[in-house]
Amino acid sequence: MTDRHTVSRRRFLAAGSGIAAALATPTLAQAATPLQIAGPGRPLPPLAGRSTQTLLGRGKARRAVICGGGWGGITAAKYLRQQVPHLEVVLLERNAVFFSCPMSNKWLVDVVDTQYLTKDYLKISEELGYRFIQTEILEIERDTKRVVTAAGAIDYDYLILSPGIRYNYEAWFGNDLRAAEATRARFPAAYIPSAEHFRLKQAIHDFKGGDLVMTLPPPPQRCPPSPYERACLIASLFKAKKLNARVVILDHKPDVMPIGPGFKAAFQELYKDIVTYVPNAHVKEVDPFNKRIKTAAGDFSFDHAILMAPHQAGDLAWKAGVVGQSFQGGPDGWAAVDPLFLHAEDDKDVYVIGDAVGYVSPQFSFYPKAGHVANQHARIVAHYIAEREADREPGYRLPDNLCFMMVSTQPQEAISVKFDYKVNAMGIIEQTQIDFNERKPETVGEDFEWARGIYEDMFG
Ligand SMILES: Cc1cc2nc3c(=O)[nH]c(=O)nc-3n(C[C@H](O)[C@H](O)[C@H](O)COP(=O)(O)OP(=O)(O)OC[C@H]3O[C@@H](n4cnc5c(N)ncnc54)[C@H](O)[C@@H]3O)c2cc1C
Repeated sequence: MTDRHTVSRRRFLAAGSGIAAALATPTLAQAATPLQIAGPGRPLPPLAGRSTQTLLGRGKARRAVICGGGWGGITAAKYLRQQVPHLEVVLLERNAVFFSCPMSNKWLVDVVDTQYLTKDYLKISEELGYRFIQTEILEIERDTKRVVTAAGAIDYDYLILSPGIRYNYEAWFGNDLRAAEATRARFPAAYIPSAEHFRLKQAIHDFKGGDLVMTLPPPPQRCPPSPYERACLIASLFKAKKLNARVVILDHKPDVMPIGPGFKAAFQELYKDIVTYVPNAHVKEVDPFNKRIKTAAGDFSFDHAILMAPHQAGDLAWKAGVVGQSFQGGPDGWAAVDPLFLHAEDDKDVYVIGDAVGYVSPQFSFYPKAGHVANQHARIVAHYIAEREADREPGYRLPDNLCFMMVSTQPQEAISVKFDYKVNAMGIIEQTQIDFNERKPETVGEDFEWARGIYEDMFG
């Protein structure tokens, strides 16, 4: 972080080009990726490369394999290493570099630099003493307790899935892969840690004027307040550059939520001529070639767009066969877990954490899909595994959530929301939500303090 949390654009471009190359895009990641393995006392092995080979042989130690090294996975690796020292802990991740989605909206408009968002997985794993393997996970075989990767197969005693989300472009395009790929390539959502963020940043900074349209996915979605934060910060950039430009938010929902009054005050008071908010804009058709969108609230054309298709649990939840069923009978898109103990409904040795977690409560349905919650889930599941390894029956633990959203850069001001959870007398998890709608410079300080503390928790 630099003085007043602001960095120059030249620095972003210089630092970013290497990092962008180290982050796979979700589709390109299917191709073979270079393999990195680290761990205490273990030299780098020769490059393996066939999924039929064994990735790591078994020693005497029982083994936890963590799939996905985002906010949930990287925290789980650290806490398992600390709390269950006799367990072998292996983290599998497709990217060489950790890239944080939290704080990335601020990075889009140069409030923080690329270094602030990124960490070298290999270095962190060596410091914290777990094994990191950079590879694409291809299959998860729960019957044989094996994970098959592009570099070989690995078996497990405990499996932790922290796959994050995937974009459900099929909901818009059916089998039209050409339209889906064009949308992903030209108008990236940048909601998954990948090179998409760099493409979006370039597009925003190169924008010369006109309409930038954002489609917001229907709930449940990753970090519900963050698209409004993104809209405010892009609007602040356009305002500072005195562009003749609009940010048009096409929201599936009937109103801005959470922190609705806070965001709406920012739209009205700071960006009256720039931000246009359109509620009930359920997307019906997207044409990325002619730059047009049809919604339930009208038709729109655009000069650039951030096209966010509906979200679902990441591919790994589907590969593991833990995705739940909807009342209509099809997949509901999210992992079916025990609400209190976070293991797959039908498998106590498979835990799911973070955004992929499905329905947990009749009161609020889903935990907020937030890095803060993923971090807490990881710590909770590490505790459950530690208790089981000590032959004790774990008692349940619940997360909380805290989310800060910057709405203005000049001066820097933010709003926030806080969630708490408890189990009521009926055994149902209950959520309490408090919105802090007044924008304040002090809240920006709290945001950076939150980020400092949680990065320290994951990487320190
Ligand atoms: C713009 C934006 C702003 C946000 N702001 C906040 C905020 O202020 N506060 C907050 O708490 N949260 C915020 N979030 C939400 C936060 O990013 C997510 O909730 C969090 O990342 C979820 O963690 P996760 O571990 O479930 O998934 P992720 O962090 O996405 O991790 C999933 C990992 O799995 C890996 N992976 C997936 N499939 C494979 C495979 N087949 N092989 C190998 N690896 C694989 C991915 O590469 C990725 O590293 C924000 C998100 C966005 C997009």
